[in-house]
Amino acid sequence: MRTIISVANLTKSYGSFEAVKGISFDVQEGEIFGLLGPNGAGKSTTLEIMETLRPKTGGKVMIDGFDLDTQPNEIKKIIGVQLQTSGFYPGLNLTELVEMFAGLYNQKVDPITLLTEVNLQDKAKAKYKELSGGQKQRFSIATTLINKPRIIFLDEPTTGLDPQARRNLWDLVKRIRSEGTTVIITTHYMDEAEVLCDRVAIMDAGTIIAIDSPDAMIDKLVDSGFERIREVKKANLEDVFIQLTGHALRED
Ligand code: ADP
Ligand code: MG
Repeated sequence: MRTIISVANLTKSYGSFEAVKGISFDVQEGEIFGLLGPNGAGKSTTLEIMETLRPKTGGKVMIDGFDLDTQPNEIKKIIGVQLQTSGFYPGLNLTELVEMFAGLYNQKVDPITLLTEVNLQDKAKAKYKELSGGQKQRFSIATTLINKPRIIFLDEPTTGLDPQARRNLWDLVKRIRSEGTTVIITTHYMDEAEVLCDRVAIMDAGTIIAIDSPDAMIDKLVDSGFERIREVKKANLEDVFIQLTGHALRED
């Protein structure tokens, strides 16, 4: 394992408000690394600083050996960032959008190959606004892959999706990682972090209060004597839902 991201004493202030209060963490190459925490914890701020989209106030960030302070353009070349959906021109279809973004990145990309990677080949001629929620998220993940990045950043990619689309996106993220890409992801869904993330950092009010694998965190809590009030059943309501409605995506 090789450290691909190293963040040390990162701070970010908005005026007099300190949103990120000196956090430090490393991400290993090939990891799916989760940033968890309640709203306002500072997850998106941290992500956007690493993405070179937001200036930091203090600290040091190294991405694949490049220093954020002095080599932001080198960093931009090796990362994939989810673009703001408002930038998706409503009049263009997915093929045209891929071609447009490829042009911005100065990359040669075959739109159908890229759309197939996220299972949107059938939507090549559809407009972004005609897609379902899950399809929009998959398309936005496709745009992060255009420059064949070593690291991609996903900020709440499954928020608002139905259980089928959410699972489908987990498979996509795992597939992207299996091809060697490091994934930094934020989510509010703990079940998602548990199945997807190799390690998670839990943020609260601008600080990291825990960082470990989900398994180790759970074991530590159990070792401390914690027990669930209610006995855990062998299935939960989401299992019932999936069992009844099937794994098939409904949006297509
Ligand atoms: P999270 O993604 O964990 O919900 P954010 O990084 O978006 O948290 O925000 C962290 C804190 O910083 C919040 O209190 C938020 O209101 C504040 N904040 C975020 N962006 C700005 C901004 N541009 N100006 C002022 N405050 C901001
Ligand atoms: Mg956020």
